Amino acid sequence: MFKGILITRGDAGYQAQVQQIDESVLPEGDVTVSVEWSTLNYKDGLAITGKAPVVRRFPMVPGIDFAGSVIASSNPAWPIGERVVLNGWGVGETRCGGLAELARVRGEWLVPLPHAFTARQAMALGTAGYTAMLCVLALEKHGIRPEDGEILVTGANGGVGSVAIALLAKLGYRIVAATGRTAEAAHLQALGAAAVIDRSELAAPGKPIGKERWAGVIDTVGSHTLANACATTRYRGAVAACGLAGGMDFPATVAPFILRGVTLYGIDSVMAPLAVRQEAWQRLGQDLEIARLDAITSEIGLAEAIEVAHELLAGKVRGRVVVDVRR
Ligand code: NDP
Repeated sequence: MFKGILITRGDAGYQAQVQQIDESVLPEGDVTVSVEWSTLNYKDGLAITGKAPVVRRFPMVPGIDFAGSVIASSNPAWPIGERVVLNGWGVGETRCGGLAELARVRGEWLVPLPHAFTARQAMALGTAGYTAMLCVLALEKHGIRPEDGEILVTGANGGVGSVAIALLAKLGYRIVAATGRTAEAAHLQALGAAAVIDRSELAAPGKPIGKERWAGVIDTVGSHTLANACATTRYRGAVAACGLAGGMDFPATVAPFILRGVTLYGIDSVMAPLAVRQEAWQRLGQDLEIARLDAITSEIGLAEAIEVAHELLAGKVRGRVVVDVRR
């Protein structure tokens, strides 16, 4: 038996509870990990509350990422004692995830815990931080340099947004942070934002094309925000779209793409190939100031995770939340 959050769906409806879980609930897999830290991502919020059909099998342990140590393995790449990180691959959705003391996965999904981070810091980054890095890499590979102009980051107080700001600031970019919580402007500026705008400026239906402003965009919001961001991106600029916190729709026209040569990059962290993950984690180790990470991290125990999941979806959580699964 091990402690974890278990999501069930039955006569009592959709329920998420901290409880002792029988090991037989864990799926097949060649590596068993003693989880030390997990985290709450937006998708975990959806899974725990049941607000969107993230969980595909029941019963389910939520948690799309974790960090810990290998305690049983038939995979030669992962000997016992190895420190590992997992992001995505359907973990916490179609097979049991990281918000528990134990997880069993396929070895090819794991990456080594980067030397730059403790297990707690790796989960302070978590899938949100790794996704932020994937977005930054997309803009970099497009050729956008700090001298090209401003980078817009939407959902700035969220996990992806906060880490994206910290990363871009370290790399020397000038960042404009769009947030619904302008009262947190000082915090965003301390993180590295040069300017803070109210997200309402981007949230309403806009024109097909507007005044050129952004050299690049990292968008976690979707919907009109993404459409307006594309419409105001500069000639041959790029937009990295990774989220849907404001909606899954994309009410845009092709004008920015065919008149300004704007490129829209789709960012997926869940099924990203191993080499892409390794590059992202290596770059996080290199480009993130730990002090900035600590400034956006708060810590909770497993028992608090259910309540905080609701707060996360209500947009009340700032930055990243790490979960100590042993408490
Ligand atoms: P968080 O909940 O930490 O942050 C989301 C932020 O979005 C909020 O803090 C808020 O920022 C903003 N927001 C919330 N609701 C709205 C709204 N109605 N309109 C506009 N802005 C809103 O989530 P994460 O940072 O972890 O994830 C952000 C998005 O990225 C999510 O949609 C998530 O599913 C997605 N994601 C995608 C991944 C991928 O692989 N593609 C991986 C990880 C995340 P503020 O208060 O500053 O306005």
